[in-house]
Amino acid sequence: MSVTADYIETSVFDLFKSGPGPSSSHTIGPMKAAHDFLLLCRDEAGMLPASCPVPEGRLAFHVRLFGSLSATGEGHGTDAAVLAGLLGHEPSQCPPDFLRNLQEDRHREHTVLTGAREIRASLSRIMHDSVTHHFPYSNTLIISLVQEQDQSGPSTVPPSPLLEREYYSVGGGFIQWKGWTPPDRGKPVHGYRNMRQLREVLRVTGLAIHELMLENEMAITGMGRSAILEQLDALMEIMIASVRRGLEHDGALPGTLGVQRKAAALYERARAMPLRSDRFMAQLNAYAMATAEENAAGGVIVTAPTCGASGVMPALLYALRHDLAVGERALREGMLAAAAVAFLAKRNAAIAGAEVGCQGEVGVGSAMAAALVAHARGSSAATVENAAEIALEHHLGLTCDPVGGYVQIPCIERNAMGALKAYNAYLIASTENPWHHRVTLDSVIAAMAETGREMNAKFKETSLGGLAVSMVNC
Ligand code: SF4
Repeated sequence: MSVTADYIETSVFDLFKSGPGPSSSHTIGPMKAAHDFLLLCRDEAGMLPASCPVPEGRLAFHVRLFGSLSATGEGHGTDAAVLAGLLGHEPSQCPPDFLRNLQEDRHREHTVLTGAREIRASLSRIMHDSVTHHFPYSNTLIISLVQEQDQSGPSTVPPSPLLEREYYSVGGGFIQWKGWTPPDRGKPVHGYRNMRQLREVLRVTGLAIHELMLENEMAITGMGRSAILEQLDALMEIMIASVRRGLEHDGALPGTLGVQRKAAALYERARAMPLRSDRFMAQLNAYAMATAEENAAGGVIVTAPTCGASGVMPALLYALRHDLAVGERALREGMLAAAAVAFLAKRNAAIAGAEVGCQGEVGVGSAMAAALVAHARGSSAATVENAAEIALEHHLGLTCDPVGGYVQIPCIERNAMGALKAYNAYLIASTENPWHHRVTLDSVIAAMAETGREMNAKFKETSLGGLAVSMVNC
């Protein structure tokens, strides 16, 4: 099959990333952008002395946050994430405690070395700029390397930058920048842009979804089959561990809302429920909220597709493994089917609350989880598609209005709702005749894209509308 540049070329490991919460677009993406800028400065270190005619002037990083990053960055921990990236941390290796410590002292000066030059970095050099702007993506940040002439401090107007890059955090921890071109990597063996084409490839090749995904992953990343499976297993363990940690903790979450963790208590009560159906549903709620609470606390989670929605997939994984005795191989293969759903949503709509509202986060997370359950329990590709479609269809129009800018209300309970809808979508899809299903996954993704485009900006992760406003006014 011939391939062209606009087929889906996303790697499973671009999608599923481990890192500290609470937000993939506000924490992981900005940290990656800042780390990328540090590497850029190191690459360009040789030219810095020539560009710095005043040797006694100090070099410093200045950052401007725009759009939703500016509106809700504080509650999402964006400033600390950017600073951590500038200090050399990447999301997968950044200890949550390091971020917490950074947040505690806003005026502390940090230094980082590029070549022989020291560069200053601090939270006070990170500025929250306009919420409305003309950049192509809502979550935009401009990072500059400047030479501060005035020793009076970072609050003085910075001179022209020596180096500057305009970054976009486009959702799910993915970043781009002005002039960005997709990385040169292998081409997928099986090209598809949408579900209709994916369905056709599956029909022609006779492959199962997970086999197709695996063959593409090997071609795109150059990794061997066993290395991919090992990495996938490691990510599943991080997801399962995030549920376990959440079930073991109680107390208040960070921030000013005073939100108390509920997952552990819910789990204990669920275990004592006499009705098996009640017990299963209540436990699923507890699993999803456990990871979502860990995410809100800045703990390590896996984006699926984002941090905000990171509780949905682990809830179903945990339930399949511990309550429904589904084997490891089926879980792993289900993860690959879930990734295919996220790729389609990302390619043909968006997976960021700042772009399309929560339908792109918990909605897509729920569709992924529905595909996971259906595939892991041996359903046909048609049923996997229908399960994902049903889960996403019943999240259409869902706004993103985090109260106080924290990924807590409505996000934590919303993960529980997404998990239950995912299982219900699987039940409906696996019970009906798949050929009688009238709505395709492509149709519902197109509807999500259109709904997201028409959605007022105040409902797209700015905390300027909806519950974020009405709850404050109560
Ligand atoms: S409301 Fe949904 S999209 Fe918005 S921050 Fe919360 S989980 Fe993310």
